[in-house]
Amino acid sequence: MAEAQRHLDAAIIGAGFGGMYALHLLRGLGLKAHVYDDASSVGGTWSWNRYPGARVDFPGGPYYCYTFSQELVNEWDWPETQPDQPSVLAYLNYVADRFDLRRDIDLRARVTGARYDESTQRWQLDIATGERVSAQFLVCATGALSAANRPNIPGLDRFAGECYHTGKWPQQPVDFAGKRVGIIGTGSSGVQAIPVIARAAAQLSVFQRTPQYAIPARNRPFDAAFRQQTREQWPQLRTMMLETLAGTPFPTPTRSALDDSPQQREALYEEHWQRGGLGIAFGTYGDLMSNAEANETLCAFVREKIRRTVRDPDTARRLLPNYPIGTKRLILDEDYFETYNRANVTLVDLRDDPIVEITERGVRTERGEHPLDMLVLATGFDAITGSMLRLNPRGRGGRPLADAWAGRFSTYLGLTVPGFPNLFMIHGPESPSVLYNMPLGAERQAEWIRDCIAAVRDRGVGAIEATPGVDADWGRTVAEIADQTLFPRTDSWYTGANIPGKHRQFPVHLDAPGYFGRLRRVADAGYSGFSVEPSIDVPG
Ligand SMILES: Cc1cc2nc3c(=O)[nH]c(=O)nc-3n(C[C@H](O)[C@H](O)[C@H](O)COP(=O)(O)OP(=O)(O)OC[C@H]3O[C@@H](n4cnc5c(N)ncnc54)[C@H](O)[C@@H]3O)c2cc1C
Repeated sequence: MAEAQRHLDAAIIGAGFGGMYALHLLRGLGLKAHVYDDASSVGGTWSWNRYPGARVDFPGGPYYCYTFSQELVNEWDWPETQPDQPSVLAYLNYVADRFDLRRDIDLRARVTGARYDESTQRWQLDIATGERVSAQFLVCATGALSAANRPNIPGLDRFAGECYHTGKWPQQPVDFAGKRVGIIGTGSSGVQAIPVIARAAAQLSVFQRTPQYAIPARNRPFDAAFRQQTREQWPQLRTMMLETLAGTPFPTPTRSALDDSPQQREALYEEHWQRGGLGIAFGTYGDLMSNAEANETLCAFVREKIRRTVRDPDTARRLLPNYPIGTKRLILDEDYFETYNRANVTLVDLRDDPIVEITERGVRTERGEHPLDMLVLATGFDAITGSMLRLNPRGRGGRPLADAWAGRFSTYLGLTVPGFPNLFMIHGPESPSVLYNMPLGAERQAEWIRDCIAAVRDRGVGAIEATPGVDADWGRTVAEIADQTLFPRTDSWYTGANIPGKHRQFPVHLDAPGYFGRLRRVADAGYSGFSVEPSIDVPG
């Protein structure tokens, strides 16, 4: 059977916030663009993460969304301050229809290979459906939190009960009733899922490696007046979002936590704790993420809350985190710590009772076996670089990305990689990605990519590529900014510490205003740091 071939101007991988907007924009240039995603629906990671309790945590309010269209803002009603996964998925499906995107999106279509052909200046893609695709440009909107991390625990495949990964949750409802459930992992997904599972299951064993700070979400419905006000003020709100460090319409605080007396600090933290949301970390003091002493004031406040909430002193002690707050993804919770007061919940502290193996019947730790009917792997993602490395595109000379990034990943602007012409990433390493309002970050990067492609095509250029060496300078800039903060000091999925064998490198550009300013200057200077090749006219 002859293989199907499709010729595109731009192939886009991923149908989440980034890929769908890239499609909309590239179509606007008159390009033939098409999206491939291996998920069963549009929505990207929101199509996969259907685990109970999955919600948006940052930014709260109606700000986790596309910002580019006032009409869209007017049409969509977010029901709650912390929208749940079904709401976000419904929103992204609405967007797909609203902008007529579906006719250019193939679902259940994993891209299994991507190779740059220097003789044609085009990318050649293999799709799991058997289709072959050639495209001048390749936009990888493959997701920073989409490559599920299945832990390498001896015996995992032997478990005879039900086993689910939070990042690959089944589409059909999972029934916990009457079951003994074990959950491995207490990161964001675990903390969100644990209270919901505990309410439904007969028994829940939580296998914890690292205790977490979690802040009450205090999720609530929006009232109509607030909704109306948001719509009316959207242009001003959007302008503010474009200017702030985290992409929110709230001013970035500048005051030091050490300028206030302990009583003043306590009162401010308490006010934010009662209000809920991540404002306690991002809206109080300007030096919480850069000064260890300032950071410790908030750590101590949250630890005290944990001690007061969890009734059993030994369990409370085991739940106390001991690293700077915020240096692992800060989590919003709904009754997470209260859940440990339930009679059907047990905490297994893996620091002094590690997992030995998974058996057919359950989890065996050093102290004995925990019999289970269901195992939930809340073990997160191979974050930020994982999806690109799994795709492993081959650039000039057939060089795989895994080779280019062996020992150290490097990019230019977090958007491109030398040796990989005409390839762009959304939420790539060394961009603001996971420490920014991600839909807004995706929007801004997609717009830059659109403008770059338009400029290249206007000039009859066949290939554009980051110049060798610019990536080293870029990497230094990203590291220098990170080193002024507490982030790189903690083992976390940010630093790659959750993946055995992954090298330690901090992957986020922490100065978003500086980052987006630099993108603008690079474009204004005619794409400085890039080299271009004239278009080769290939017959046919
Ligand atoms: C539970 C959860 C809660 C979150 N909460 C927040 C939040 O509160 N605030 C925030 O800013 N961010 C949050 N995020 C991060 C979230 O990843 C981003 O906000 C946003 O959805 C990313 O969109 P994206 O388009 O960049 O990528 P994604 O939505 O991750 O989409 C990438 C898609 O690419 C597909 N793909 C990858 N490789 C291939 C391949 N080779 N072939 C075909 N398809 C491929 C994947 O299957 C996936 O569907 C959360 C993430 C999760 C999982």
